[in-house]
Order: sequence, then C-alpha cells, then structure tokens
Amino acid sequence: MTCGNDLAPGALACQQCHALVHSEELTVLSTRAQSQETEEDFVAARETWTKALALLPYESTQAEWIRTHLYRLQLAEKAAPPPEQKHKWAKWLGPLAPVAIFLAKAKWLFALLKMKFLFSFFLYFWIYLKLWGWKFGLGFAALIFVHEMGHFMDIKRRGLPAELPMFVPFFGAYVKWNAIGVSARTRAAVSLAGPLAGGLASLACLVVWWKTGQSLWAGLAWIGALMNMLNLFPVWILDGAGATNALDKTDRWMLLGACVLLAISLHVWALLLVAGGVGFRLATKDFPPVPSRGTLAYFVGVLVLLSGILHFVPMNFPTNQS
Ligand SMILES: [Zn+2]
Repeated sequence: MTCGNDLAPGALACQQCHALVHSEELTVLSTRAQSQETEEDFVAARETWTKALALLPYESTQAEWIRTHLYRLQLAEKAAPPPEQKHKWAKWLGPLAPVAIFLAKAKWLFALLKMKFLFSFFLYFWIYLKLWGWKFGLGFAALIFVHEMGHFMDIKRRGLPAELPMFVPFFGAYVKWNAIGVSARTRAAVSLAGPLAGGLASLACLVVWWKTGQSLWAGLAWIGALMNMLNLFPVWILDGAGATNALDKTDRWMLLGACVLLAISLHVWALLLVAGGVGFRLATKDFPPVPSRGTLAYFVGVLVLLSGILHFVPMNFPTNQS
C-alpha cells in the first residue's frame, strides 16, 4: 500500500489512506462495462459492474454509485424493445405452436397470462438482495411486518380476538383471528388494513429516498408497493379476496373500471392483473345481498396509494448520479 500500512487479509481498502486494494482491476472492469453499455449489451454490462462492486468496500461512494447505476441499467433494460427471439419457445410446442403464437399475438391476453409482475417481483427481489444485501432483506421483512400489524391493529381496535402475526418463510405472514359472526364489511376492512399499512410504509421509504438519494430506499418503496398490490389480487386467501367478498355486482364493475383507468393513466400494469381477478369475481357471481360503497372507496384508495408509488419510483430514479 502507498502509505506503508499492513492490510488485513481480504481487506478491500486501506484503513489509513483509504486507497483501494483492487484499483487497477477496477479501472479495467469499469472501462469494459462502459464499452458494453455503448454497445447496448446491458446484461453483460450489469455483470461487469457487479464484479466491480464485489471489489469495493460496501460503504464507499464508488460502491453506492455502482448500486445506483445498476438500478438504472435495469430500468434501461426494461424500457428497451424486447429482443426478436420471442417466438423461439414456440418450436418446443410442436403442433400446438400456431395456437401459442396466436395467443402471443393477442398481446393483452398474453400479458395477463405470463403474469410478468409476479416474475419481476421474484426476479428483482433476488437482484436487490444481491445489490444491497442484508439491509434490503431486513427492510423487506420490516415491510411485511408493518403489513401484518395493519391487520392486527385493526382487529384489536374493534375489540376482536387476534393472535400476533405468524411468519411463514417465502409466503410472508398472516394474522390468525376469529372471523365468526363478523360482517363481510368488517372482514373487508380488516383485509384492506394490511395493504394500507404496507402502502404507507412504502411511502415512507419513498420519502427517505427523496431526502437522502440512497437507492436502497427506492428499491424498498418499489418492492413494498408491488407486494401489497399483488396481495390485492381478489382470489384465494389474498387480502383482495376478503375485500371483494363485501362488494356486490355494481361495486365490482366499478372496481374493475377504476383498476383499468388507473393502470392506463399511471402506466402501472400490475393493476391489470388485479382487474383480471375482479373480472373473475364478477363471473363467479358470489355477490353479497347488499352493496358496500365504503369498502369500494377504501379498496380504490389503497390502489391509488400503491400505484402512485409504483408510478413514481422508476420514472424518477436519481439522474443526478449518472
Ligand atoms: Zn395481508
């Protein structure tokens, strides 16, 4: 080291003069990554930047710059036109290929079928975990906890018995409570309290990102809002199902309309998934005898909050650090 200080094995920077141990390798890597970006090979560029990231101390400004840059690259990749190989998979289907290609051409239908949002959720969760490590994992667990506490507090507030949230690895968490003799409207409000609390927590992450410019908080705001949005899919045991049970035919039509309008105006396509689920719940005809405009307004309000966050995060990701 230039200052003559002995380095601890595995150290990435000198404790005294802050010189980087791998500075030559870093220069090579960043030059390579930049030329890959010029060639618009974003996947390779991201790999190269990730390699460079491993050679930098976590807290260094260079590391933070690369993390932000990786996030931007990923957005650029998302915005880039899809590669021409999209029908490649069809050849594996043999005689069914024409049918599959026809389905692929009916674009809106295909978009719903492949449920891109779900895949992107797991994919980006993995990418973010690699980018920010335990800080992201901890933040994500905290977001799940706040969602569950939203349910828990709402049940307690009504004087109903509830157990503290249970955490199930990979499936999130749930609150056990006794819903016997409770009206559909109350159950709907309890269901929506989780996504509302989760949405507010995501909004708080968005504000922290705004104030500090640290990319970690933008990632948390994004994944928190998307996780709560997916929870509002109105089937199975998801929160959206509990809320939709209180909605009659007219309510459900209005909810479907609100989802589509919000999706188009804010370009948040995960809402179309929710809209598809509401369409399914119109077909199942399990309508309650009375409408609940209050539940409808609550449901739409939570959707506005979550889609507002999803709309805001990627579009305004820091450009000042590029
Ligand atoms: Zn929930």
